[in-house]
Amino acid sequence: MKNKQESLNKEAVFESRQIRKRFLGRCLLLALAVLLVFSFTSLGRDLWKQLFFLSGFGGKTDAPLAIHVLDVGKADAVVIECEGHAALLDAGTAVSGEMIVDYLKRNRIDSLDYVIASHPDKDHIGGMAQVLTEVKVDQFLRSPYFSEKYEELQSVRQEQSIGETTIVSGDSISLGGATLSVLGPLKEYSDTNNASLVIWLEYQGFSTLFCGDIEEEAELDLAEAYGTALSSDLLKVPHHGSKTSCTDLFLSLVSPRYAVVSVGRDNHNLPAEQVLKKLDLVSEELYQTDTDGTVVFTIQENEVKIFTNQ
Ligand SMILES: [Zn+2]
Repeated sequence: MKNKQESLNKEAVFESRQIRKRFLGRCLLLALAVLLVFSFTSLGRDLWKQLFFLSGFGGKTDAPLAIHVLDVGKADAVVIECEGHAALLDAGTAVSGEMIVDYLKRNRIDSLDYVIASHPDKDHIGGMAQVLTEVKVDQFLRSPYFSEKYEELQSVRQEQSIGETTIVSGDSISLGGATLSVLGPLKEYSDTNNASLVIWLEYQGFSTLFCGDIEEEAELDLAEAYGTALSSDLLKVPHHGSKTSCTDLFLSLVSPRYAVVSVGRDNHNLPAEQVLKKLDLVSEELYQTDTDGTVVFTIQENEVKIFTNQ
């Protein structure tokens, strides 16, 4: 009798397991069906495209120009790709090195034509030694007004036999079909921020202004020297959106359609509220790496697409 009861109990347990399995199987099928249908909608297609692109598993972008403003906290690191060539402008802090190397690998960027240091502060060259060590780099570019703070980077560069070139206002560099014109620094400044390289990129009518950490003094010098020629489609906002930068005159001359601020989530004063207000007024679209994560701008036949990973 006991045995019969036990076998009935076992059968009941077996039965309920089977029911649960069938139920879970149906749920899974339903979820897959919903995902499949969603993937065919335009929203779904865009989402998958974004995920693949940002993960790097989808391979390189088809667009001939891509500007990747990496999420490296309160620091700067920008990857510029043009027609199969690539450059890295700044390399974040020391902890960013690994992330940058990984990002390049995931985006199948095996070598860099240039690694450019805007200025020798640790939030701009911190991860550079690791990049020079782990990625094939043709040239290291810097401004002539560089303090002694980058000795370690110099020794890594020499170990890796990477050539160094100093670039000055008036120089221009080719990256695929894009031209990187050096606008500043226009003179030797007493502080490293104002002595940042200022680079204006132009590709088939699309322009981007990269400003490093320049502040009011350098901005006004640039405004005087270049006037409306500073006009750019995209502004990589100076100095992480600090209130010591983004003067009204400078912003009105640049008059960007898009603006992007590279800034950390944990910083109390950056980006400054008044700077965000100004950028909101002057630009059509404003992006921040603290809220948007890595922001990628691709340009193809005058069409600008923007990918964020938040
Ligand atoms: Zn900085």
